[in-house]
Amino acid sequence: VTNSESSPQPDLAALLEGLVAVEEAGRARLAGAQTVDALRLVTQEVLGKRSELAATNSQLRLLAVEDRPVLGQAVQQVRERLEVEADTRRAGLEAAERAARDRAEAMDLTEAAALAAAEATPLAATLPLPPLPGHRHLVTIVREELEDIFVGMGYQVAEGPEAETDWHNFEALNMPPNHPARGMFDTFYLNLGQPGSVVLRTHTSPVQIRLMETSAPPIYAVAPGRVYRRDTPDARHLAEFHQIEGLVVDRRISMGDLAGTIEAFTSAFFGPGRHSRLRPSFFPFTEPSAEFDVTCWVCAGEGCRTCSHSGWVELGGCGMVDPNVLQAVGIDPEQWSGFAFGFGIDRLAQARTDLSDMRALLDNDIRFISQF
Ligand SMILES: [Zn+2]
Repeated sequence: VTNSESSPQPDLAALLEGLVAVEEAGRARLAGAQTVDALRLVTQEVLGKRSELAATNSQLRLLAVEDRPVLGQAVQQVRERLEVEADTRRAGLEAAERAARDRAEAMDLTEAAALAAAEATPLAATLPLPPLPGHRHLVTIVREELEDIFVGMGYQVAEGPEAETDWHNFEALNMPPNHPARGMFDTFYLNLGQPGSVVLRTHTSPVQIRLMETSAPPIYAVAPGRVYRRDTPDARHLAEFHQIEGLVVDRRISMGDLAGTIEAFTSAFFGPGRHSRLRPSFFPFTEPSAEFDVTCWVCAGEGCRTCSHSGWVELGGCGMVDPNVLQAVGIDPEQWSGFAFGFGIDRLAQARTDLSDMRALLDNDIRFISQF
């Protein structure tokens, strides 16, 4: 004889009424769960073997045979509705937790690095981090700023060797041996290979040649780097200095694209209200060629001694890439056209900091470098 057999027959109406309360309580508990883990426990309690719902279901066998399907169906319907409720709540909590995780991962990486460092050395956690020894060089600071501007305009940053072949430095750029234009670029030859075949590059243009040799257009790239000329160092010249050069090769590129690009760079680097202008010039590797001026950084165009009262300062050279140059690297000039521009980074750094003698850039005096 078991207890259940001796129990009085339950009242169907009371059981159905109780079921309404069970469902309401279950919904409230599921809705109150604040994490996926908490919801898992609550779901177990609301729908599991020890739940009130299961207890109600266990009354089935005490009912009259004809009443059993009525309660059975009612319990099943409540179970299904609560399961839908639990699934919906879980999806919502999972989405919220994922979003919170994404936000945490998008956190400032420098902050994360500082936290990691603090965790690795708990003693240092309460102390401010000491400044790193050394200082970025003025030329490096300006170069990185220029790179950022062009990367922001969709350009890639390209690099090439400083010891360059005569072909990359001169010939591919429309300057065959004995071409008079080579006189502008008298340089240091290295004692390597055939005499006169390897030079310290005189400009960053050979990087453009290497880029066009190895990648198919469209090309949007800047090449910053160190270059060498056989100049006697003085206040405005160095035998080693830095250039940045830009190259675009794409379909239907025009002189208008070039002028627009230089204007966009000028206002990004020097600030709004600063402009650029092109003047006709000559370079062997561009046709037509131009020099470009920017609004004087000292007087903002008003006229002063720095700009010889013109309001403009010459910054660099540019032009449409000569079809012969495209042909030399196997790019069809009928299909593709491009422009190139370049200027000195050291000269820009000098101008911007009002530096009277460029040779200070090579002295490596930390007292000078730390000022910037
Ligand atoms: Zn001026």
